[in-house]
Amino acid sequence: MSDLISKTAAKLSAMLAAGEVSSVEVTQAFIDRTEAVEERVKAFNSCDKSWALAQAEASDKRRAAGQASGPLDGIPVALKDIIAVKDQPLTCSSRMLENFVSPYDAHVTELLKAQGAVLWGRLNMDEFAMGSSTENSAFQTSRNPWNLDCVPGGSSGGSAACVAALEAPLSIGSDTGGSIRQPAAFCGVVGMKPTYGLVSRFGLVAFASSLDQFGPFSRTVEDAAMLLQGIVGHDDRDSTSFKAEVPDYRAALTQKQGPWKIGVPSEYFAKGLDPEIKAAVEDAIKFYESEGCAIEEISLKMTEYALPVYYILATAEASSNLGRYDGIRYTHRAKNAEDAIDLYYKSRAEGFGPEVKRRIILGTYVLSSGYYDAYYLRAQKVRTLIREEFMQVFQNVDAILTPTTPTPSFKRGEKADPLSMYLNDIYTINVNLAGLPAISVPCGFTSSKLPIGLQLIGKPFAEADMLAMAHRYEQAHTWKDAVAAL
Ligand code: GLN
Repeated sequence: MSDLISKTAAKLSAMLAAGEVSSVEVTQAFIDRTEAVEERVKAFNSCDKSWALAQAEASDKRRAAGQASGPLDGIPVALKDIIAVKDQPLTCSSRMLENFVSPYDAHVTELLKAQGAVLWGRLNMDEFAMGSSTENSAFQTSRNPWNLDCVPGGSSGGSAACVAALEAPLSIGSDTGGSIRQPAAFCGVVGMKPTYGLVSRFGLVAFASSLDQFGPFSRTVEDAAMLLQGIVGHDDRDSTSFKAEVPDYRAALTQKQGPWKIGVPSEYFAKGLDPEIKAAVEDAIKFYESEGCAIEEISLKMTEYALPVYYILATAEASSNLGRYDGIRYTHRAKNAEDAIDLYYKSRAEGFGPEVKRRIILGTYVLSSGYYDAYYLRAQKVRTLIREEFMQVFQNVDAILTPTTPTPSFKRGEKADPLSMYLNDIYTINVNLAGLPAISVPCGFTSSKLPIGLQLIGKPFAEADMLAMAHRYEQAHTWKDAVAAL
């Protein structure tokens, strides 16, 4: 195994800049690694190796001509299969889009291409990002590199697994209710959901548009800062894209010293939290205390409503967003339909998997006349209360510290009923409902050697602080050096 694959993206970037290695060598090392382990990890839906190598060659040429464009130039970045890349498959792990090739680039893709990143592979996910384990993928279930019987989390399970398995130094996922942070926690890597509006969703296949965000996966916080820097920026094609002043996230890692005032919500440490996760997170709290941070016990009483509110709003939005998959235009088309209505029915029946159908039915129900006020409207009101509660708490603290998930990764097939799967998102979905930034950083292992994640939630657009806080913790611990034996 080439030792290039165990290096961080920041280190590889420095080596490329110093002329110690070429992008072709780096890219080839990750391709070789993927060929060696992918059969077991199943992170990718597809990989275009020759295209990756062509991009790497172009990067090396640019560098030789003195035109390298920044820290991501020549670094492989793998993308969740929900992000549009021109002329590449875009399946969302759904039969509905099995043969779909994107005619255009997402904003994130454009930015990465412009910075010379080597776009590498399409990563498996739960179908249309609905799920917490990748078991809802129509194609395959990705594996957790730390225990191949266990799931990598979801919906961005492939994005987390590929970084943990050293198949790519960086990847991108999307987070609607925890889909970056939960798999990051399960796979022992760093995952960040930025503030709603910071990263354009143009070219992100929509699930629940008032919640969806893109974000980075990496093995270190510095690498997450580097990738985040590369994907932020205003874009007119996403009406929620914010014109925020973007700080230098990497510089902030050392410039921002705290000490921070950290709130610890009692509701996140209640019944249902795995005792080993509790102990690891409590150790992290002690660490911040020893660094001079003030720790304050806080209460987020609305937490108990987050799950029902999320599953009303996210399904309502999904039922509307997924209406475009009708079998007429670019999606799966059923054969032998009798008329247009029959074609809709049959194409959707064949194209969507059971979880997606469940969500569309639920979402249509909560929006239907007679139930709209009782469910959808009420959920919107509670969502406002959830956000207000967070903003109230943030008047007094700089950040909120919680476990990322109530349990570590679980075995494939273990959570057969949808509700037990939904409960996995209990600590992550509030953040999407409130539109806040949050990061998951590795904070230890259970006795059965499964990774544990620590979540830091920040004020809107406080990504630099979140990254600096996570970096401080990471640098004082050795979790980032642990690599899954594959
Ligand atoms: N697990 C959650 C769901 O199934 C979150 C998904 C996501 O963030 N995309 O809806």
